[in-house]
Amino acid sequence: MPIPLIFEQNNPAIHCSHIPKSDIPDDVQGLPDDLRRQELDLPQVAEPEVMRHFVNLSTMNHHVDKGFYPLGSCTMKYNPKVNENISALPGFAGLHPYQPASTIQGALKMMLSLEEWLCEITGLPAVTLQPAAGSHGELTGMFLTQAYHLANGEHRKKVLIPDSSHGTNPASIVMAGFEPVHIPSNERGRIDIAALQNALKPDVAALMVTNPSTLGLFEDQIDEVAEAVHSIGALLYMDGANMNALMGLARPGDMGFDIVHLNLHKTFSTPHGGGGPGSGPVAVIAELEKFLPIPRIKVDGVENPDWDWDRPDSIGRVQSFFGNFSILVRAAAYIRSLGGEGFKNVSETAILNANYIRTRLMDIYKLPYNDLCMHEVVFSADNQSNDGLKAVNIAKRLLDFGIHAPTINFPLIVHEALMIEPTETETLGTLDNFIEVMRRIDQEVNETPEMLKNAPLKTPVFRLDEVMAARKLDVKYEG
Ligand SMILES: *Cc1c(COP(=O)(O)O)cnc(C)c1O
Repeated sequence: MPIPLIFEQNNPAIHCSHIPKSDIPDDVQGLPDDLRRQELDLPQVAEPEVMRHFVNLSTMNHHVDKGFYPLGSCTMKYNPKVNENISALPGFAGLHPYQPASTIQGALKMMLSLEEWLCEITGLPAVTLQPAAGSHGELTGMFLTQAYHLANGEHRKKVLIPDSSHGTNPASIVMAGFEPVHIPSNERGRIDIAALQNALKPDVAALMVTNPSTLGLFEDQIDEVAEAVHSIGALLYMDGANMNALMGLARPGDMGFDIVHLNLHKTFSTPHGGGGPGSGPVAVIAELEKFLPIPRIKVDGVENPDWDWDRPDSIGRVQSFFGNFSILVRAAAYIRSLGGEGFKNVSETAILNANYIRTRLMDIYKLPYNDLCMHEVVFSADNQSNDGLKAVNIAKRLLDFGIHAPTINFPLIVHEALMIEPTETETLGTLDNFIEVMRRIDQEVNETPEMLKNAPLKTPVFRLDEVMAARKLDVKYEG
């Protein structure tokens, strides 16, 4: 049933607020007519109706607090509300970025602790909290790579990326002024070492690896890869947005990575989507520390942290002020509440959940790379191609069962990809229900293909033109 829109409930006899009459005379001098607002045509409704309007609106879209959200690569895990409460404490939320350092000692100490914990998790000695997103961390990492080679008097031009890498990787490489070069995957979905060796020429600045890859697979020859990359003086960069699979189990620094970005808003508990705010800290080896963005936080003895602007080798600022502070608070609270054992548990459960789905659906859905997966599993919808059906039809039909669609048609090296990331915060019951729904949709592929072409049938709006929705977004209400 359509939800009655508040704009259609206007009843001038009802008010939700009573604003005192203005005591400024109507004929007040000096205010030009064109700056005086006309009467706003707002509907008059009672307060309970306003409340219901917004609560109803909040349930029209899908979100992780409403239902299962296995959108691959996005790590849509449940975010504990205690982290929200802590980031909203007035001592954090009320700070102003221009306050003198002496008045924000607690905030600086929190940031120092977070840096230290992220160093521990990544196995690298220094970290910047400034970048505002994962892709922004990549760009920062590319600037650091550039600064490193320039300091050695070298103008290296190329950055290698496996064909299973995330879509933001080539974009960041190009934005930083490098040229991306693709390295093919082998039949096991891992970097083809022979192809890598061939591509490692003296003008290569770095290899950028998403690990685990977008196929949900761990790069199990990463030590060999690291050795090859370092042998020509290039740097090894890890896109660590998939760190939800590794925490407490393996550290990028120990694998030979020189630079790694993390997505705090994915792995470390911040509600995300819709464009932010996010946070993409970058951890580096000791040789790269001097290039990190300014300001850094310096500690005088054990006390009195202060901003350090005097860093001549720094790449400069990558963000106004000091990063998305409230996201840092959430991450710090999340890390403190879980601890080392907790993180190990997170990653092990994320991996277990993905493999549970993999083994319970692989008799029906095609599994192009049949191997133990990490935090996500990538199927192909090729077995469900009856009557021209595609991955998108399965994705849309899932919405009818109150389940968000998986990521589809990505990674590009899997035909009609269905990329499923259940995360660690889902119960066995939720996973079983998802598996049952996926098996039922597979039956519908043969029994009612026409219906699947029109799905979803139960959502507030039906099949959208997604290209138009993105390119010509129109959120205006017109009665
Ligand atoms: C999400 C993601 C990114 C980009 O992160 P944003 O914060 O959206 O910019 C990069 N790489 C991988 C593997 C990701 O999953």
